[in-house]
Amino acid sequence: MPSGSLVHVALQDRSYDILIGNGLYEHLPNPLPRWLTAEDPGSLRMLLVADESVYELHGRQIQHTLEKAGVQVEAVEVPHGETSKSFAMTQRLYDALVNMQADRKTAVIAVGGGVVGDLAGFAAATYARGLRFLQVPTTLLAMVDSSVGGKTGINHPQGKNLIGAFHQPAGVLIDTDSLSTLPDRDYRAGLAEVVKYGVILDAEFFAWLENNVDELCARDSAAVNHVVRRSCELKAEVVTQDERETLGLRAILNYGHTFAHAFEALAGYGTLLHGEAVAVGMLCASRLAESLGRISASCTQRQHDLLKALGLPVSVPDELQSRRTEIVDRMMLDKKTENRQLRFILPTRLGEVEIVTGVEPEVATDCLV
Ligand code: NAD
Repeated sequence: MPSGSLVHVALQDRSYDILIGNGLYEHLPNPLPRWLTAEDPGSLRMLLVADESVYELHGRQIQHTLEKAGVQVEAVEVPHGETSKSFAMTQRLYDALVNMQADRKTAVIAVGGGVVGDLAGFAAATYARGLRFLQVPTTLLAMVDSSVGGKTGINHPQGKNLIGAFHQPAGVLIDTDSLSTLPDRDYRAGLAEVVKYGVILDAEFFAWLENNVDELCARDSAAVNHVVRRSCELKAEVVTQDERETLGLRAILNYGHTFAHAFEALAGYGTLLHGEAVAVGMLCASRLAESLGRISASCTQRQHDLLKALGLPVSVPDELQSRRTEIVDRMMLDKKTENRQLRFILPTRLGEVEIVTGVEPEVATDCLV
């Protein structure tokens, strides 16, 4: 195995490793025999999926490395952006799999951000009732969140992520060097999900983030590797206890998301990046917890200060401030409502959250920051 740190996701026969490090792409063939239980890489066939930007930046190199090791690789490029999580792009991947006469031993490898991971994962989950699937995330958001945990899916014209399946990857390879080409705004958006882990599960990690803002803004390699590893460990802990979100525990990963999804949809997808909406959504949720007497103001203030220092937005965009009825309507549409009651993940202190139902919509919108 190439050097790097390993995080294990323990899910019985669906267990897998996340390998995190630098300069890993050239070593990608090494873990394949273990991850894909093949005697040697030369016996493998793969469909590599990337968006066109990431293919040029990283995908082509990965394809060559795999081919040098004897893997037969077909590559499909999809347009970048959320609109690729569509039936049309899924069909394109099915067509590629049919053309290469894929069988149950063929593996799909997603190289890119959460869009490509969700799309390729969904095609892998559904083609021939399930192909093996590898994730090579290249955005910070995909490294710390979407590549781990097995949620795959595409959008329906009426709603985001409405069509999907749980399908755990067979392995995740995270080369944080790939972040060097990621635009600053996307990098910072990923940091919002990192802050989220601190608030919901790990006060010590939150304090570490507060003390390492400069290193994180400068993308210092050791700091980035630390946050990616710790975030993966925390997500893995949650996923191993509640793989299919049936026990309520996995829902805590949605801290800030009830507000965030409404902001994203109303601003227009792509206007506000997901992580940016999550940053503002976490502050709204924290203020809501304050207004319900669950936490002190200093808990919200620390989140505000950290998010701001990391270059993330800390207030609801002006154009949404006056659209409270629409925000409520959107929140009611969210997958997390239960019996038409709003459900929020709210902090009880830094490092701990609870699920709270029955909050009146007006009380929630009074907490917009
Ligand atoms: P994304 O996949 O659209 O990537 C953002 C942009 O960055 C794209 O334009 C892409 O081309 C570019 N890019 C990616 N890597 C790059 C690199 N290394 N260098 C330069 N450019 C690069 O967006 P995202 O933020 O990674 O993911 C968002 C998606 O993730 C959403 O669809 C969301 O629903 C999904 N998501 C899924 C889960 C899950 O558990 N499955 C969790 C969170 C989010």
